[in-house]
Amino acid sequence: MKYEIAVTKTQNPKTKPDPATLEFGTVFTDHMFLMDYDKGIGWHDARIVPYGPIALDPAAAVLHYAQEMFEGLKTYKTEDGKIQLFRPDMNAKRTNATNERLCIPLIDEGFYVDAIKSLVAFEKDWVPELDGTSLYIRPFIFGNEPFLGVRPSNQYIFCIILSPVGSYYKGGISPTKIFVEDEYVRSVSGGTGFAKIGGNYANGLASQEKAHKSGFTQVLWLDGKEHKYIEEIGTSNAFFVIGGEVFTAPLDEGTILPGITRDAVIQLLKDWNIPVREERFTIDDVTKAHREGRLDEVFASGTAAVISPVGELRYIDQDMVINHGKIGALSQKLYDTITGIQKGQLPDTYNWIVAL
Ligand SMILES: *Cc1c(COP(=O)(O)O)cnc(C)c1O
Repeated sequence: MKYEIAVTKTQNPKTKPDPATLEFGTVFTDHMFLMDYDKGIGWHDARIVPYGPIALDPAAAVLHYAQEMFEGLKTYKTEDGKIQLFRPDMNAKRTNATNERLCIPLIDEGFYVDAIKSLVAFEKDWVPELDGTSLYIRPFIFGNEPFLGVRPSNQYIFCIILSPVGSYYKGGISPTKIFVEDEYVRSVSGGTGFAKIGGNYANGLASQEKAHKSGFTQVLWLDGKEHKYIEEIGTSNAFFVIGGEVFTAPLDEGTILPGITRDAVIQLLKDWNIPVREERFTIDDVTKAHREGRLDEVFASGTAAVISPVGELRYIDQDMVINHGKIGALSQKLYDTITGIQKGQLPDTYNWIVAL
């Protein structure tokens, strides 16, 4: 069967870092997963090999026209030493949705999850144990055919790398300061906003730099057409708790990333009988709610931080302080519940956990 995974072990294992010093995405494990695609053959030669540089022809398609996609998920060690993943089938499904949009050949979703599991199992000694740490998994695919014409590449590389990462919240959860971007846009309906691609991130860097220079953590994106509907916060989904109801942008415009954490948040809120409204709402709705004292909480959701509370929002010349700049009760409960399930401290009643 062409999907067997060949293994080449490194001759030079690295020294593992002190888990207390881990940051995000700076340290990589000893091995990586690779698989090739060639037109006429399909995906082939799945293998685990020593971590290292990938040789690319200077004419490789990805370097010129950005035919590239990526995913991100984490693996956690439970108190009794079990290693588990959070909803990897959703990453597999989203990979194919992205691939379809970028004309990248689809991947068998069952095999995709098996490839992740095989690599993590091979590198299991790299899963850090310290509270708040985890092993971040980065699958990505890019066109590597040497050809300067504009058309889908006939060759691709599918790679998975692993990075032990530190706690997102060293020294406790501190709410972020968010700048509402009223000039640049991230996405338009019919564009690639729903797809997880490097190109969307390159497009967002200038806004992020502008926000950082003014002392903000991230930007809140508004819609690409009228610059008024709320979309996302940086690289995470956005939730607004207004007068006891929770608002978040809908997926059907195709302009926001369908976050797996977003989906978990919505399911939990529904089960807790808290009204969730996945519908379009504007920045004016938010400023009005703030003026009326009904903007209870704002938070972002994503794999990296899970739940990230917003303490302050700036829109043009209005500064809105939310919940006195502190994490709200609902944000805290969502954070505790999702991380509790991920770490095996709470029962997995939704079948979100996949053990190795
Ligand atoms: C990855 C990502 C998210 C969060 O998705 P999760 O599956 O929850 O990690 C949100 N927005 C953007 C733009 C993203 O790239």
